[in-house]
Amino acid sequence: MKRAYNFNAGPAALPEWVLQEAKEHWLNFNDTGMSLMELSHRSKDYEAVHNEAKELLTSLLSIPDNYDILFLQGGASLQFTMVPMNLLPKNKTAYYALTGVWSEKAIKEAAKLGNTAISVSSKEDNYTYIPNPEQIELPKDAAYLHITSNNTIYGTQWSNYPTNLSVPLIADMSSDILSTPIDVSQFGIIYAGAQKNLGPSGVTVVIIRKDLIKEDNTLPTMLSYHTHAKNNSLFNTPPTLGIYLLSLVLKWVKQQGGIEGIANINKEKAQQLYNVMDQSNGFYRGHAEEKSRSKMNVTFTLPSEKLTKAFLQEAKEAGFVGLNGHRSVGGCRASIYNAVPLEHVVELAKFMKDFQNNHL
Ligand SMILES: *Cc1c(COP(=O)(O)O)cnc(C)c1O
Repeated sequence: MKRAYNFNAGPAALPEWVLQEAKEHWLNFNDTGMSLMELSHRSKDYEAVHNEAKELLTSLLSIPDNYDILFLQGGASLQFTMVPMNLLPKNKTAYYALTGVWSEKAIKEAAKLGNTAISVSSKEDNYTYIPNPEQIELPKDAAYLHITSNNTIYGTQWSNYPTNLSVPLIADMSSDILSTPIDVSQFGIIYAGAQKNLGPSGVTVVIIRKDLIKEDNTLPTMLSYHTHAKNNSLFNTPPTLGIYLLSLVLKWVKQQGGIEGIANINKEKAQQLYNVMDQSNGFYRGHAEEKSRSKMNVTFTLPSEKLTKAFLQEAKEAGFVGLNGHRSVGGCRASIYNAVPLEHVVELAKFMKDFQNNHL
């Protein structure tokens, strides 16, 4: 069987090794005579998987001791609610950097719970760039600053983060976590839905500085970070299968030389596509400004709507999956997350060059 050229935005490609490994143990996990899905979440066998996923993530990201890792449900979207619910007191204001649809959605939820304000925004320019982090200044009443590290829909990505903030930096890293080295200690909370770079949908990873976890009995139990931190994310039944697959993805990342190894391949992958665009004499026009280009989602349009349509149609016929731009912006988007092999990106780059040559 030939694996599809999968450029889906999410859920997205998983490493073939992960799928093979899961298949290998599908019917009989660890000689239990049961699949992983059939194990009790209180069993030793499951607990080992759960804790190994945490250990692997800790070592890959060099997560300091004063952070906790939580495995939650509800997607990144539920974090839009949990962050302000847990971190925004009545007398303070939550600041958001507006860099795309996901940041809009995040601030919308926070506004239902407390005071919010926009710190910087590229909305006026159709989210074509990431504002300069040096320009961010927060007033005294700030509770935290929330950013979206990679804007999945527009194809822009922060290359450096605000520093010297007096409040916690909260980052939605759903579409670029583990793609490049980061300094976790710069952040108060990092969260990510798993279905782009970490595994299947259904698990959300939250990396949270321990001093931000506070017991508050007025919060709904399931929406309090304290509940999950106190119980090692086993307060209720966690998404065990998703966490198992996450642990395999983390093992795979380790095999690739860790995040440094992955980052090198990601750089090469992104370069393949941006080179074709830059050498196309404007045939492929990127949505993102050059300095804000994402290494995870490459967004572009062709000279006319008709050509864009023809490109997507021919690409589909040639076996490329998921190249349609998000319904809110149109055009084309190639999502080249960690698990998308370099060879598949090379094939796409070739296809783009050929398409241009055939349509000049
Ligand atoms: C996909 C995505 C989301 C939404 O994630 P869900 O897990 O579907 O809630 C949020 N933020 C960003 C940056 C995303 O890419």
